[in-house]
Amino acid sequence: MAINWVESKVLEHVKWTKDLASIKFENNIPKYIAGQFTKIGLDIEGEIISRPYSLVSSPDEDFLEVIYVNVPDGKLTPKLHSLVEGDSVLVMDKPSGFFIMDEVPDGEKLWLIATGTGLGVFISLLKTTEPWKRFQEIILVHGVRTEGELAYQKQIEGFQNNHPGQLKYIKTVTREKVTDTLNVRIPNAIKDGSLTALAGEISNKSQFMLCGNPDMINDMVELLGGYGLERNRRSKPGNITLEKYW
Ligand code: NAP
Repeated sequence: MAINWVESKVLEHVKWTKDLASIKFENNIPKYIAGQFTKIGLDIEGEIISRPYSLVSSPDEDFLEVIYVNVPDGKLTPKLHSLVEGDSVLVMDKPSGFFIMDEVPDGEKLWLIATGTGLGVFISLLKTTEPWKRFQEIILVHGVRTEGELAYQKQIEGFQNNHPGQLKYIKTVTREKVTDTLNVRIPNAIKDGSLTALAGEISNKSQFMLCGNPDMINDMVELLGGYGLERNRRSKPGNITLEKYW
């Protein structure tokens, strides 16, 4: 199926670290659902090179935003990384994907577990009203290698201020010692009790959304299986909804 590309001007480019960045650009596409992804591309020597990215922006915002890792020898991201305000990107006009709140069954506690850029999709979801209305408590866990990769902390503080007592934000940094964070991989932080000491117990009233590194997701699915939690499927609702990034 031919992709319909829409040209969009870059509005802002934030570099969180040397190779982790967020880029905001004009929203010229039809309405999407929080949690969906689209393709972002550039015309490179006459060929459109594109990759899928989850939207960090939410459907009511007048801009689109994605977060990406620059892969210095990659085809797309070094060029994306050099864009400045006013430059153009190409956006696939039909976001898609099922990592959306409508696919998540009801529960009491919503666990949003991300590594790296996987956080972005949760920022989009948390900008909408649905998770806050449907869950009494939300636990957002972000696992990164280094402290600089803890993106969107101000935005998350804003969510906490707007929803007092409803959101716990837990950071884990694995390759540096950083105070006020856990220093182990997320599944290990559950196994050693350090995460549940902060976030409370895991039960069948918990819904988990997992996003990011596929190895983290596989390890989490196995671990949560030990709690009797299974993948959520349309034919058989469960407690784990996931999106692997590669
Ligand atoms: P990452 O290697 O995914 O690490 C992020 C966090 O996940 C780290 O804390 C890491 O811990 C942890 N982690 C790794 N394996 C895990 C596991 N089995 N269980 C639990 N936690 C685990 O780093 P990243 O910077 O987000 O991404 C790394 C590379 O992936 C990038 O350089 C890029 O090439 C690629 N990437 C690809 C895409 C894509 O869509 N294709 C998107 C994002 C990134 P440790 O420090 O202990 O490893």
